[in-house]
Amino acid sequence: MSGSENWIERGLTHVAKTYGRYPLVAASGTGCWLTDIDGKRYLDFLAGVAVNNLGHCHPKVVKALQEQAEKLLHCSNFYHIPAQIELAEILCQNSFGDRVFFCNSGAEANEAAIKLARKYNSDKGHKGRFEIITANASFHGRTLATISATGQEKMQTGFTPLMPGFKYVPFGEILALEEAISATTCAIMLEPIQGEGGVNVPPEGYLPAVRKLCNDNELLLIFDEVQVGMGRTGHLFAYQHDNVEPDIMTLAKALAGGPPIGAMIAREKHAEALGPGTHGSTFGGNPLVAAAALAALSSILEDGVIDNCVAMGSYLRKKLEHLKEKYPFIVDVRGRGLMFGMELSIEGGEIVKTALGRGLLINCTVGKVLRFVPPLIVTQNEIDQMISILDGIFAEI
Ligand SMILES: *Cc1c(COP(=O)(O)O)cnc(C)c1O
Repeated sequence: MSGSENWIERGLTHVAKTYGRYPLVAASGTGCWLTDIDGKRYLDFLAGVAVNNLGHCHPKVVKALQEQAEKLLHCSNFYHIPAQIELAEILCQNSFGDRVFFCNSGAEANEAAIKLARKYNSDKGHKGRFEIITANASFHGRTLATISATGQEKMQTGFTPLMPGFKYVPFGEILALEEAISATTCAIMLEPIQGEGGVNVPPEGYLPAVRKLCNDNELLLIFDEVQVGMGRTGHLFAYQHDNVEPDIMTLAKALAGGPPIGAMIAREKHAEALGPGTHGSTFGGNPLVAAAALAALSSILEDGVIDNCVAMGSYLRKKLEHLKEKYPFIVDVRGRGLMFGMELSIEGGEIVKTALGRGLLINCTVGKVLRFVPPLIVTQNEIDQMISILDGIFAEI
């Protein structure tokens, strides 16, 4: 048995079966490349599902972790934590926000956003205003509240009763949203571009119209930027494309360049609803992860990462569109920055498996949409290699 086979057999024995895992045993990584336990190298266009925006083991992030690990790993949020304070300052200086709550994942960040929306309205004396409108095909996480917020039945089946207080509308349709607003509505929660739901980009003007609806009806606008944030779409935050500021924004995935972190960012007038004792997280924003996030954020802001994302994004788009002209089973290519979906008229699962065998990591959402979310430091040469592997697979279909 090879090293991989042994690990795979053991992995299938005692680890929870919550993921349909591919036969790859991860050992190390650098830049856009992941290496398995047998030494095979993979070009990583999944990047931990948009987590490794700086590639694997970015030297600045690794150094920050090493230095912080020797000083202090963890201390309670009962005390002030310098790296967490600096991280909050930089996030607020670079966004609409005034205050940041730190947690450990995207789902937790969205939980915090949902709790803030309810608490703000409760404090205001808005009796019975608790409902949050979300979109069909959205994805907000796997906890009970966040699967309730997620407009995908397959995430909810078997887990009922769901948490009350959510209503779903078609994504990108402003009239449907307008009609869904009622006396019980307190907020609208959307991904500026839907990730898991198939890389769905809303029509031009949709997000500004949603902002206006929120203003007119005194609703909070929550943007889930867990996947699209941190430079992924060619701005630090996706909302900056349309110049539509939310009231609450959630971040996670790429925020710390790999280590687990989540954040909920809000304006002061709303954030003050979460006072001492109303919410918390043991690990949230702890010294180690905050140090990593500071390093990751400074690299994104100072090392030309977003410029590279924009340049490589338009190069990758051209290449994907070129494939679309060549193969009739490619229905659509869509996305922004370095986040692309390629919708097929056929199932994508087998293509993902074949790509893995040929040393390329991609994934497939909603059955037929191949998703490309490479590290934002990807080079033209790596894009060419990716396209060449994909072209080879498509040619055999
Ligand atoms: C991944 C994701 C989440 C959930 O994040 P976890 O860290 O897995 O809890 C929530 N929202 C969006 C848009 C995501 O892409």
